[in-house]
Amino acid sequence: MSKIIVFVEANASGTANRASLEALGAAKSVGSDVVAVSYGIGGAALDAPKHIALEGESYSPDGTAADLAAIFAEEGATAVFLASTGVGRDVAPRVAALLDAPCFSDVTELSDEGGLVFTRPTLAGKLITRVRASGANGAAVATLRRNCFGAAEDGTTAGAGRPAAADLKAILTEIAAKEGGKLDVSEAPIIVSGGRGLKEPANFKLIEDLAAAFGNAAVGASRAVVDAGWRPHGEQVGQTGKTVAPGLYIAVGISGAIQHVAGMKTSKVIVAINKDPDAPIFKLADYGIVGDALEILPVLTEAVKGAMAGA
Ligand SMILES: Cc1cc2nc3c(=O)[nH]c(=O)nc-3n(C[C@H](O)[C@H](O)[C@H](O)COP(=O)(O)OP(=O)(O)OC[C@H]3O[C@@H](n4cnc5c(N)ncnc54)[C@H](O)[C@@H]3O)c2cc1C
Repeated sequence: MSKIIVFVEANASGTANRASLEALGAAKSVGSDVVAVSYGIGGAALDAPKHIALEGESYSPDGTAADLAAIFAEEGATAVFLASTGVGRDVAPRVAALLDAPCFSDVTELSDEGGLVFTRPTLAGKLITRVRASGANGAAVATLRRNCFGAAEDGTTAGAGRPAAADLKAILTEIAAKEGGKLDVSEAPIIVSGGRGLKEPANFKLIEDLAAAFGNAAVGASRAVVDAGWRPHGEQVGQTGKTVAPGLYIAVGISGAIQHVAGMKTSKVIVAINKDPDAPIFKLADYGIVGDALEILPVLTEAVKGAMAGA
């Protein structure tokens, strides 16, 4: 049986972030012996047989990597999992370098076939590859893509404190909350994304209204409108933006260029609104509406408001 170290990071409110709980859920799903290593959640309880809470003055990627590598060796583990977040992507290759192990990024599926096998999109999602570590002990480090694995439930294992590495090369001095506390595309269960078909930045109000009608939706954007300065880069979905996999993705006035699709193709249900019936996005969509987004969005928003009121 594999023994997996899972790094559980905190969100801004000091609780375990959902992406990390999904990494924990992924480790448990392959029936592995799991050691959760947390930082910044104050030793809160997790659903893992063992939970080590790192206690340090300041988070640092190199320090956390050193801690994870040390715990990996102490525990005789076979893998280290991190969420595919900014922190996870920062720390994972550093741990892999310390362990002289491969680093598999953005894993979407996992299986134990006498050793861990990782499935991940390659070349912007054009290919799906299955990979395993070739070393004698099969040691591997992986980041797990959000919304691909069930999150671990509330747990009962409080963190046993352990001093975090003190000899740090870089120290995080501040985390500033995003403007307006808006839901981030990479966390949201529903995303309403707009593209150049919205015609002008002011029309994004229609996208915001639809997202608000759902109550738990984030606004996303294509690169065309981000490059045009209509929307902030934090909302960009795609190869050079964020990779998302929400339960519902609504693409409005977005053509479906391969670089956009690379960032949202694993969404569970995809709805496309486009006036061109031949737009490539319709090949991917579960539901399509052909027509003028500026006319369709207000109607859809009222329908969603009505449905939410009756829910
Ligand atoms: C290296 C590289 C990386 C890239 N990374 C990304 C990335 O991360 N994310 C990304 O999105 N793109 C990325 N791109 C850009 C990508 O190739 C496309 O140019 C971009 O996605 C197009 O954005 P769009 O769909 O909004 O615009 P367009 O391609 O111009 O499409 C607009 C769509 O709106 C429809 N439309 C027009 N009017 C209406 C209307 N009134 N109602 C309804 N529909 C209407 C049109 O039929 C059309 O399909 C990248 C490109 C490169 C080269």
